[in-house]
Parts: sequence; structure tokens; C-alpha cells
Amino acid sequence: MDKKRIENAIQSLLEALGVGLKQKDIVATSKRVAQMYEEILSGQFKDPKKELEVILEQKHDEIILLKDIPLYSICEHHLLPFIGKAHVAYIPDNRITGLSKIARVVEILSRRLQVQERLTTQIADVIMEKLKPKGVMVIIEAEHLCMSMRGVKKPGTITTTSVVRGVFRVNQKTRQEALSLIYK
Ligand SMILES: [Zn+2]
Repeated sequence: MDKKRIENAIQSLLEALGVGLKQKDIVATSKRVAQMYEEILSGQFKDPKKELEVILEQKHDEIILLKDIPLYSICEHHLLPFIGKAHVAYIPDNRITGLSKIARVVEILSRRLQVQERLTTQIADVIMEKLKPKGVMVIIEAEHLCMSMRGVKKPGTITTTSVVRGVFRVNQKTRQEALSLIYK
């Protein structure tokens, strides 16, 4: 990431917005923002598949659910955050992973310019590809500041997206079981 260019761009933006760059509290803003982007968009330089360590484990073939994973991402249409939580359920097929690794995949994919639908799909894809489970279900619930602060201005509106693969897709009972674990 070219931090110097981000810094310059933020300065131009502030000028274009009519903000005096000499104001005491704003002098270091462009530097801070550049620093911040490096952190909150760091996921684009990381490969989530590399984080998803595979552990061979034959005994477990029930639903493994990681619920309420905190999620912070940036909407690529408005460069404003969307904030919420992700729920990830999968049924392993002799391959599992550490729960923290699933949270890490969510984090890496969130720290990019995103749209919620694509983020949901990407999380499911990474888990399908790497763990080859019998099925995976990913649900994201998030508030988009671009909807709360502007446009339709509906604060508190939660957008829910879900992606189901494998047995969660074909077997309604399994899907229902996962849903009742998430929303109990
Ligand atoms: Zn947006």
C-alpha cells in the first residue's frame, strides 16, 4: 500500500471539502488516515486459505458452529464501514480446523473493500475449498453506515446475507438445526 499517496490524496480531499489544512486538530489527519487504511484494509494482502490450518479428525461429524464473530468491513461503494457479526457452521468430513482460524478467515476477508454478499460467499468458498466439509453455512448480519447516515437514513437496519453449501443446501433438517443453534 502506498501510504504517501494515500496521505496526499487525503490532503487533497480535505482541501476539496473546504477544510483548512492548517487547523490545529487536522494537521496530522492525513497521516493518521493513511496509517488507518493500512490496518483496516490489510486483508487484501493476505491469503485466508493459508490461515485455515487443516487438522485430520475422524470422530466428529456433527455441526461445528462459530457464532457471533465480530465483523468490521468497508463498503466499496461508499468507503464507509459496515459492522456486525458473522456465524459460520460446517459439518466436517474428516478435516477440521481451530475455531480461531475460522474467525481469522472472517477477519482477513473483512479487511478489504467489500460488499456484504461477496464477503459471505468468499468465507464459504474458502472453507469449502480448504476443509472440504460435508457442508457449510455462513450468515452475516450487519449495519451499513452508508444506509444509516445517508441515503435512506434508516439507522439500525440490519442486512442479513447467507450462503449455504453442501448438506446445508440439500437437507432442510440440517439447515434448520444450524439455524436454531444460531438463533436460539
Ligand atoms: Zn455502501
